[in-house]
Amino acid sequence: MPENKRPEMPKFIYIHIPFCQSKCFYCGFFSRPADKRDVEKVLDAEIAELKKSAIYRPVETLYIGGGSPACIGGQTLCDFLKKILAITGQTKEFTVEINPNDADEKLFAELKNVGVNRISIGAQSFVQSELDFLGRKYTPEKIFQTIQSAKKSGFKNIGIDLIFAIPNSNLKSWCQNLQTAIGLDIQHISAYSLTYEKNTPLEKSKLSGIVKSVDENADREMYETAIKTLSAGGFEHYEISNFAAAGFKCRHNLAYWKNEQYLGVGPAAASSSGNFRFENVNDIDKYVQRIGQNEDAADEKIIITDIERAAQTAVLNLRLTEGINLAEYKQKTGFGIYELFKASVEKNLKSNLLELNGGCLRLSKNALPIADFVLCDFAEPDENRVGFRRR
Ligand code: SF4
Repeated sequence: MPENKRPEMPKFIYIHIPFCQSKCFYCGFFSRPADKRDVEKVLDAEIAELKKSAIYRPVETLYIGGGSPACIGGQTLCDFLKKILAITGQTKEFTVEINPNDADEKLFAELKNVGVNRISIGAQSFVQSELDFLGRKYTPEKIFQTIQSAKKSGFKNIGIDLIFAIPNSNLKSWCQNLQTAIGLDIQHISAYSLTYEKNTPLEKSKLSGIVKSVDENADREMYETAIKTLSAGGFEHYEISNFAAAGFKCRHNLAYWKNEQYLGVGPAAASSSGNFRFENVNDIDKYVQRIGQNEDAADEKIIITDIERAAQTAVLNLRLTEGINLAEYKQKTGFGIYELFKASVEKNLKSNLLELNGGCLRLSKNALPIADFVLCDFAEPDENRVGFRRR
């Protein structure tokens, strides 16, 4: 029986804390300024949602993201995390996202005490003018202090996020950012190109011509520089945008790219459970109300067919630099990659955008900067595949 036929329960849990001190210029995440009453209501509802969800215990990973989880206050956050752990059991990887503005040594010590073992810091840039552009309300000095505080409290698995292709940046400032990151003696770096999310002030400024995005060639050069510089600095490039020191790949995010089952708790959190995909309502009051009335927090549950799931697995696996392990893929999805994607595989092998190596099909070096373009070919199985009908 292929693994996808087995009833599964998520072992990877994401919990969304939808609050921030203020809204960043570019932010498309679901979050709003923290109000004490809202915070209490949401946290209680999240505990209730988690309690009634079918999960595998003990879970493999717990990831507390947002928003800015620590902006609700250190004591409140740690009390909440203890309640979460009482439901899930101890976990191998327990990550909390931290905004440099919200954390000090006391908070890190408390998080360590609770059992958190991984810290993900939303640094974004070490150049003040770039932080100002993004609407991040801290200084590069504050990022350094935050990382030092986490280290002093005993954290040995610290990651940061960086953003490139910020309109007032250039290759020189990006190289500076990368070198600074390498010098911090941290374990994980995510490097994303700035995206112009719908309905954000950033997108509106671009549409009205106030902001001009970095041109495609410069964006590509910055991305390729990140791969070169971080690899030379001892970080393994293991996913399109992610780099890790040996032994420090993010297990939680690997679960997404392996298309494992996961549960998202909280407003706007997404889940993939059994043959369903769903996203909780992105409205705090409606979320709290639905949970309070023992209703489903999701608006709609989408049924994923075996073929759709196999296509998603192909797209997600290709994001990893190791690519699709063809034997594992067949075992997991019940389909061979050539059975579903013969034409797409052949076309991209021929144009050197894909390569086959040691039983794995992966993006070539040339394809990495244009990954989305290649991944589109795997969003749906080949049309001429026997028995395929486009819905
Ligand atoms: S801190 Fe993160 S979640 Fe909050 S507004 Fe800024 S980018 Fe968005």
